Amino acid sequence: METDDEEEEEEGGEKKVRIIEIILIQAAALCISNGSFSDPPNIPGLAHFLEHMVFMGSKKYPQENKLDDFLGKHGGYTNAWTDCERTSFHFDVEQKYFHQALDIFAQFFIHPLLRQDSVDREIQAVDSEYQMSLPSDDERACMLYGSLAKEGHPMGKFFTGSIDSLKTIPQQNGIDVYGNLKEFEHKMYSAQFMTLAVQSKVSLDKLEKWVRDIFSEVPNNKLPKQSFDHLKDPFDMEKFGKLYYIDPVKDKHMLEIIWSFPSMLPHYRKKPLSYLDFFLGHEGEGSLLAYLKSRYFATEVESGHSYNGFELNTTATQFVVNLTLTDQGLDQFEEVLLAVFQYIHMLQAKGVQKRYFDEMKTIEETKFRFKEKGDPMDYVERVSENMQLFVPEDVLTGRDFLYEYDPELIAKCLANLRADNCCVFLSSKQLAEKCDRQDIKWIPVKYGVGDIKPEWRKKWQATDFTMAEVEAELTTKHPIVLSENEHCTLYYKKDMKFKVPKVFFFSHTLLKIFEAVMNHKLDAPAYPAILAGYDYSTRVDDTGIRFKVIGFNQKLPELFDLLLNAVFEYSCDDELFPFMRNKVKRDLFNAIIKPSELVRMLRFSVLDPNNKSAAEMYAEIDSLTNQDFQQILAEFRQNIKADILVVGNVTPKEAMWYKERLESKLNGKVEPSSVYKRRLYQIPKQWSFCQINSFNMEDANSVITVYLQSDPGDIRATVINELLDTRMQEPCFDVLRTQLQLGYSVYCQNLLTYGIMGMAIVVQFQAQKFSMHEVDNHIEDFLNKFKEILDKMTTEEFDTLVESLVAAKQTEDTHLGEEVKRYWGECIEQNYVFDRLEKEVLGNPEVEQADVSSPKEEMEPPHKRANTDKERCYRMIPVRDSSYQDHQCITDMHSFKSKLTLFDHHCITK
Ligand SMILES: [Zn+2]
Repeated sequence: METDDEEEEEEGGEKKVRIIEIILIQAAALCISNGSFSDPPNIPGLAHFLEHMVFMGSKKYPQENKLDDFLGKHGGYTNAWTDCERTSFHFDVEQKYFHQALDIFAQFFIHPLLRQDSVDREIQAVDSEYQMSLPSDDERACMLYGSLAKEGHPMGKFFTGSIDSLKTIPQQNGIDVYGNLKEFEHKMYSAQFMTLAVQSKVSLDKLEKWVRDIFSEVPNNKLPKQSFDHLKDPFDMEKFGKLYYIDPVKDKHMLEIIWSFPSMLPHYRKKPLSYLDFFLGHEGEGSLLAYLKSRYFATEVESGHSYNGFELNTTATQFVVNLTLTDQGLDQFEEVLLAVFQYIHMLQAKGVQKRYFDEMKTIEETKFRFKEKGDPMDYVERVSENMQLFVPEDVLTGRDFLYEYDPELIAKCLANLRADNCCVFLSSKQLAEKCDRQDIKWIPVKYGVGDIKPEWRKKWQATDFTMAEVEAELTTKHPIVLSENEHCTLYYKKDMKFKVPKVFFFSHTLLKIFEAVMNHKLDAPAYPAILAGYDYSTRVDDTGIRFKVIGFNQKLPELFDLLLNAVFEYSCDDELFPFMRNKVKRDLFNAIIKPSELVRMLRFSVLDPNNKSAAEMYAEIDSLTNQDFQQILAEFRQNIKADILVVGNVTPKEAMWYKERLESKLNGKVEPSSVYKRRLYQIPKQWSFCQINSFNMEDANSVITVYLQSDPGDIRATVINELLDTRMQEPCFDVLRTQLQLGYSVYCQNLLTYGIMGMAIVVQFQAQKFSMHEVDNHIEDFLNKFKEILDKMTTEEFDTLVESLVAAKQTEDTHLGEEVKRYWGECIEQNYVFDRLEKEVLGNPEVEQADVSSPKEEMEPPHKRANTDKERCYRMIPVRDSSYQDHQCITDMHSFKSKLTLFDHHCITK
């Protein structure tokens, strides 16, 4: 360990006590108790479409992008979603603009324009969102599950909507969509259905007055709430009680066992299903997962239900046990099912025990007490939704707390987990042959139907399971020291992270496998800590292994030792190795089939001389043996150089303990010069582009990233770049999405890659709607247009821009976690400038408007890349597109890179 690192650490350690008390960001959320369940049967997706349309101007503020524009200039952001029985709208903004933003926001519900000329364009945005959901396995499983519902039950509806459902088909049937839209708005967006939550620094009296003054104008149509009470019990066993085979998009073997319970919303104070989930989702010693792992059948388990309206609504609750299987587990899935049911029988036989309920209750309450202050917008969004679900005194805790113990209800639910009332989804690419059907409307899921054989059921009902009982020890979670600085140090949290930045490019893939091995083996021993509110993570990248442990003072050293032990002692035998290798291989594949990931990867393939992309790792992984693995691991452990960051309610002496523990494990002596320094290629000053086909040819989603590289940065220049980016956000969205409707996901990015500044515009579009060339030209036009916008910027606009960025920087740390993340970023980038934010805010010399207008030169686009999906291609060799004759097309990555110069290793320290 280098000495100057330690000094930096001290500095970082001291800064931990500085708490930023002023929360400048204010937020509001409005929740409506109507959603997609209320869609008229002949216009699927209408509720979602309306959610989009409402933001397109109001009588008082007719401009289409008024709220986005206003928030964009004042450090704010807005979003919305539509669920089965609820719709939510929310925003945040700097304190001094809150009142006005609240007024602009409220006008959407007082008098929305729902302009007819926005209709076609916004349908495009909805359709793009729909197209993006098509390759999602979760979405496919939901639609398949919905299709099992009885005729006419709203679970079977198509919620997102598309051009076909919102335009083409209604048009053919002579249905007036626009008229229906207005009627739906009038019926559903009415005051008696709305709940509002606001978070602000102004006094409660003043806030209440604001809200009353502004929102009292929201109309109330006095209609009763639409009820779905008569639709309880959505499924017929004939369709539901089957084994469904699915051919998924991702390379993953999944086994899902699903039960449909009556709605648990009325029982939220008792949470009977949490008891079931506590055991079935348990990962510690003696658990179902530990057993399945010991037989190499499964790698992960998830169980329970969420507050997502599809899983939990007024008609039913879905309870799921979801297992990620190995190849072996897939082959013997009947054995896996047998284990699940025998485990359930064991639970039933043991009976409901109060001590477990009490333990869960304590855990939830402790987590709540020490919960970090989260993002204000997320918080009001949650609270406004809770107001629809719980009585007023439970609005803050209703989702988490277990208020009342009801053993009979729990026993009844437990007894309901039977083999003859469940639905089974088995999903794997290896099942493709069995999946001969593709008839679910709106979604191209390939599936097949099999029977749950009576003899299996009989077997599953046997009760001779002898698995050890789950003994989740109750860890005492109470912190030893109570801080006088109430909130922030607040949660008496100790955050600690360390990384080992020593690189082996050739072994990167093997390190990935090591990461999988560690996580596989850590699951059981670390699980009690996770239950008690601790957390850890491990991560491998091109600089080495990083891990992080978070939690309360008392047991953190134990968890730290456990992870340390994993890094230095864990290994794997010849039996485990192939399982781990396969797991990593699947993870890699699932990363590269996402167009957005693929494009990012391609960018790094071009820019980073030592980059090993997921595709390259995927290609080589089958040839790796356990012998290679053991060798690299031994070498790795001999050559570790570590940075440790300890932040939290810790004395310097305690922090030293961690360092000493780690040092006791280090044996090799590492030269500082051998530490890997990341560097980047300079891109030539001409347009060049690189194009690659998607791995998943059924996925029409394509991504184009236009990357503009600039110079090595200093603090002042990075601030200028941020200002540019902030100014670009809104027009980028307005032009490329709202006006041109290129796609749903459109944004610009301020990039700082290994100390080199840059800017990117990313557009996700659908290949059947636009060619890459068209999208690219639009981006180029936009960049030119943006230069004009900069030229026309007034001094006032510039000042507000600076003000809003300064405000954003001052609010960066509303909780300790954020702060730690920033410090850790400094360590990873090897910059160690822990007071960067202050330096940026002070700006030396001060940033002037001319600075922002001048970097136009750098915005001449020197490099571009894109990805489309015209033909299947499994190589990283891009395909030439004849429409690009004027530009340099990168067809051979190696020869292209061989002509480039590298930037020096660069750290932004001043
Ligand atoms: Zn949407």
